[in-house]
Amino acid sequence: MIGITILGATGTIGINTLDVIARHKERYRVVALTANRDHGRMFELCGIWRPEYAVMADPDAAEQLDRRLRQAEIPVRVLSGVEGLERVSSLDGVDCVMAAIVGAAGLLPTLAAAKTGKRILLANKEALVMSGDLFMEEVKRHDAELLPIDSEHNAVFQCLPNGCREDLSDHGVRRILLTSSGGPFRRFALSELADVTPDQACAHPNWVMGRKISVDSATMMNKGLEVIEACHLFDLAHDDIQIVVHPQSIIHSMVEYVDGSVLAQMASPDMRVPIAHALAWPERVVSGAQRLDLFSVATLNFEPPDRERFPCIQYAYDAVEAGGTAPAVLNAANEVAVEAFLDGRLPFTGIPRIIHDVMGEVRSVPAADLGTVLAADRDARTVAADMVRR
Ligand code: NAD
Ligand code: MG
Repeated sequence: MIGITILGATGTIGINTLDVIARHKERYRVVALTANRDHGRMFELCGIWRPEYAVMADPDAAEQLDRRLRQAEIPVRVLSGVEGLERVSSLDGVDCVMAAIVGAAGLLPTLAAAKTGKRILLANKEALVMSGDLFMEEVKRHDAELLPIDSEHNAVFQCLPNGCREDLSDHGVRRILLTSSGGPFRRFALSELADVTPDQACAHPNWVMGRKISVDSATMMNKGLEVIEACHLFDLAHDDIQIVVHPQSIIHSMVEYVDGSVLAQMASPDMRVPIAHALAWPERVVSGAQRLDLFSVATLNFEPPDRERFPCIQYAYDAVEAGGTAPAVLNAANEVAVEAFLDGRLPFTGIPRIIHDVMGEVRSVPAADLGTVLAADRDARTVAADMVRR
């Protein structure tokens, strides 16, 4: 049995992961589940899954959960805080960690999994964006195994020669084509973007996702973050990666080889596909996703991204080019701006503006160690929050 910890178990990716695991109970054992504050949902999950540990990042929520579990006589050890998250990522009985916390909060627990040599199923792209080089070093040093859950990166991984992730040019790879749906505002004029609401931004045409990543898809910052993620996962320069807008979300990304071959991975847009792939790799298991019916898809379209209406793409390329702590600053500014937009404190077009201004104000320094990265994250958040208030 493969012991698994799910970080962010109450989220969209967490729930999809449990859905896949439920189909293969003979293979996987849920050791720990974690969440931020939603102890009601966690109580339900504990009743169903009976994990050894449940962690709530929020201490009050942990207390409430512990009380309810005791009343119901469900024997689960409840932990709290970042220490609790790190603990269940590094337990001896855990082979595999699903990293599905949203945002920078996922960095330390995911790093803990890397430092204890786990198989990491990485959904939490922000962790890699913030501290890519340091993170990849820890993965190598501790012989951890990093498998991408982000559908694009999982698709690329599937189109590469088996298990290969470094020295791609030696394997004949010319470039990577990272597909994007274009988000809910693909057809909106720049002038219309100022008035869009959080609910409009979160109504993605093809995917059901958490609210933060939904807004990232709407600004196309998600694709920018994914370019940075791909640079680290596949040891590539950013000009080896081309963004391709593909509104149907059927091709999840492609790899172009020097002989002119372009390999694509296709599937219904359902996160259970990459989750099942990474859980079972190098084997294959049933995911529960609908089979792809090409006759009903009928047409696949492709167009270049528009960096004028969606400037966040350019800011991500700028950050990766600047290197050092610039991607951590980009990510922190984005998190603060997205939260402000979701709370109704910032218009949609304020998101790229804040990111641009924060990147101008918080200078990048070499990301020498984790402390430097976390300090850049904190500084950028403070500056961004000030700018939102202004
Ligand atoms: P979500 O908002 O649905 O879930 C987030 C989870 O993280 C929840 O369980 C929440 O309790 C937990 N969490 C939030 N803040 C926390 C904190 N401060 N400390 C500890 N836990 C915290 O998000 P999601 O859509 O499931 O996305 C999760 C991650 O996966 C994100 O990094 C996202 O970019 C990535 N991802 C998601 C999708 C998708 O289709 N949803 C696709 C690709 C990548
Ligand atoms: Mg993606």
